[in-house]
This record gives sequence, structure tokens and C-alpha cells, in this order.
Amino acid sequence: MDLRLYDTLTREKRPFVPLDPNNVRMYVCGPTVYDFAHIGNARPVIVFDVLFRLLRHRYGADHVTYVRNITDVEDKINARAVRDFPDLPLNEAIRHVTEKTAAQFHADVEALGCLPPTFEPRATEFVLPRADGKADMVTLIGQLLARGHAYEAGGEVLFDTASMPDYGMLSGRKLEEQQAGVRIAVEAHKKNPADFVLWKQSSANEPGWESPWGRGRPGWHIECSAMSAAYLGDVFDIHGGGLDLIFPHHENEIAQSRCAHGTPTMANYWMHNGFLQVEGDKMSKSTGNFVTIRELLYDWPGEVLRFQMLMTHYRSPIDWTRHATEQAAVALDGFLHITRSVDIEDGNISPDVLAALSDDLNTSQVVVQLHALAARGRAGDYQAACDLKATCNFLGFGLKEVGLQDILRHQKSDIDSSRVDALILDRAVARARKDFKESDRIRDELAGMGVVLKDGKDANGKPVTTWEIAR
Ligand SMILES: [Zn+2]
Repeated sequence: MDLRLYDTLTREKRPFVPLDPNNVRMYVCGPTVYDFAHIGNARPVIVFDVLFRLLRHRYGADHVTYVRNITDVEDKINARAVRDFPDLPLNEAIRHVTEKTAAQFHADVEALGCLPPTFEPRATEFVLPRADGKADMVTLIGQLLARGHAYEAGGEVLFDTASMPDYGMLSGRKLEEQQAGVRIAVEAHKKNPADFVLWKQSSANEPGWESPWGRGRPGWHIECSAMSAAYLGDVFDIHGGGLDLIFPHHENEIAQSRCAHGTPTMANYWMHNGFLQVEGDKMSKSTGNFVTIRELLYDWPGEVLRFQMLMTHYRSPIDWTRHATEQAAVALDGFLHITRSVDIEDGNISPDVLAALSDDLNTSQVVVQLHALAARGRAGDYQAACDLKATCNFLGFGLKEVGLQDILRHQKSDIDSSRVDALILDRAVARARKDFKESDRIRDELAGMGVVLKDGKDANGKPVTTWEIAR
């Protein structure tokens, strides 16, 4: 079964052929660590974790190298350090911010069922030439200058986009269009408005490293060119990230890496996950619908959020809704119920799920296949139940006992469930004394709250009332 992946650069889905099947190499842009990660940040982490698992399955766990960096030098980090730790020396304050935020990020993505990447380099360790000879930013910038792809101006080192005839292939933006469309005045020191910073000078109260171009700090894009080359070489297999990184970040990574190394390509497959919005709106701090992973993890097990993320194909936009979270919880609760008492050792990873994943990571089809297995398991097919358990485990779902029924009950919109329970008890009492007028009144009151009652009998034949939210 061929693995086929959609490549943003060539705009086609094509068979994945690794450069070296003994060492399949993937790089994904990681977080800038200055604040809690939001649920949109979780999307590439989960999507590429699933791809990592698939590649490990196909090529062997020891034959896949996955690098996801941590950006720990950035002006937003400096600003946060000054705000949060005004009494500390800047470097110490920055270290506090980046270490705390990186630890939060690790805890969040572990809760979402993601494996740690093979390497997780921090940008600050790759600024200056290293004792181990791995690629670094200062050396890369030196190479770009030596090859005529960069110039010094206005206290900065800039990439000279005009020196690269095919700059703009990934995003499809042509240099001339960018010049024609530019409305703001070109910064005077730039030869071309699209030229971007490789190195900039630091003032005394900004973090900086001594370089051939004075004390300064790297631009954002050069970080990933250095760290990917350090662990994966000049050309590697897959480069991933969110759609929002295509321009300028990935475009500029390609320009830097290709021009510094003199290679026709940087990575053979460029994969981008789609946008995420929340309850129909773009997530933004100003509108108040900015949702952190941490906040969601207060209310839901990480597996539910992971499942919800995989219900949509990674290239499609996701509308992150509470309704979908509940759907994910109901699905996982069903899977747990079916697989609770079966032996995972008796199960195999479903070939239908592997086929869906191999078709450009079609996780929405994976979810369909999991439901099909669950239906067979529910009908008494022991092998299907075992396969469901093994397949869920492969996908990063441990199907732990987390009391999803209780969580769902308490998550039901903003309804006060203790008030609902009290009214149900009052109604049962009214019914017991045959006061049906009162019991109907209570039922109508609950209906007005959006609660639908279901009367049934428990295992001992005693009447029991459950409730759910009207949809
Ligand atoms: Zn990057």
C-alpha cells in the first residue's frame, strides 16, 4: 500500500518515497515559548504526531527522525520577560519565561497523546558555531553572504531575494507582484521590499550574541534552517507546519537553506494543516474566544480533544465547537465500553485504518473505520473489538477509564446539573404520590431549561430517570 502525501510546493498528492528508508526525516516548526499554547497550536502537533506514528509503523520506530524545535529567542519573549520579571536581569527573566512555557507545552501535548519528537532543539543553542560541528545560524548566514545571497545594511544582515530567481515557489507569490502590491514605503536600507532579516543588532537591554556583524540576534526564519540542517541534513523528506507559516516563514526557510547549501530543494514534501476557528469565529484574544489547550484540559481528557482534532481532515479548516467535543467524548466512551474487557494482544491494527492514513492522512475516514469496527464489536465480534483496541492504541488513544459519562453529564452546556437532579427527584416524589399535575409541571420546567427526560427501568426493574440536552 503506497503512502501518498499532498505536497504544498508541487500542489499535488503523490507517492511518498523517502531519501533513505533507513532514516526517514521530518521537521515541524515548534512553538515560540512565551505563553500558553492555544488549541490552534495543538493542531500541527497532533497531525504530525499521527504521521510520525504512521512512518514508524511503515519504516520501523528506529528509522524515523522527527525534529520539532522550540523558538526561545523572539521579541515577544523579551517583552513577556520584562513584563513578568521586571526585577530580574534580562537573560534570567527570559530563561524563566521560556523554561516555564516549554514545560507547560510539554505537559499539554503529552496529555493530548503525542509522542515526544526524536529531537527538540532550542534555537538559542544553535545561534553560534557549536563544538559538535552541527549546523548553526551564524555559519549559515556567513555562507549566504559568501555566496552573494545576503547583504549588510542598516545594522542588519538581510537575505537578498532578488539573488534567487525562483523565490516564492511555495506560496506562489512572485517578487514583481510583491513590489507592485507594496503600499508602505520600502524600508530605506532594503534593496527589495521582500528582503528579510537574517541577523539584527541588539541594544544593551535585548538578548544578543557576539557575531561577525556585531552583537545581535537571529531573525526567526534562520532558526529553522539551522536546526533542520543540524539534525536532518541539507535536504530531507518532510517539512510540516500550519498553513499560516507558508508565507513568509517557510518560503524564507526554503530560500535560506537552498541558497546556503546550493541545493535545488530543502524538503521533498511540504505539508500544511488547515486553520482552526472556535465556535464559528476566528480565535482572537480581543473577542474573548481564545481557547488554550490548558483550559480545555481542565474540562476534558486529552484523548477527547485528540479525537475531535482527527475528526476533520488535516488540510480542511476546523470549526472547534463544544458540540464536536461532546461527539468525540461519546465516540470514545463507546469504544471504551466495547474494548474494556478484551485483550489488546489479540488485536491487529486495522488495514482499513492504515489505508485511510496512507491516503494523505485521511483521519476523517479513519474515524469512519473506527466506528465500523466498534459496530462489529458491539454486535459481538470479539476480533473486531480487539482490533479496535489495538488500532486506537496505535493512533495514540489509550482508552483509559476516565469517567466520560460523568464528564459529559457535567459538561452539558451551562445547565446546572445539580439543579436538574434536584428537580428530577422532586418529580419522582410527585409521581410516587400520584401528583401528575406537579410531575408534568416539573417536566415542563426542565424542558424550558433545554433538558429532555427519559424514563426507564434499571437492572432491578426500579423506575429510573435519565436526562439529556435537547438538540
Ligand atoms: Zn520553522
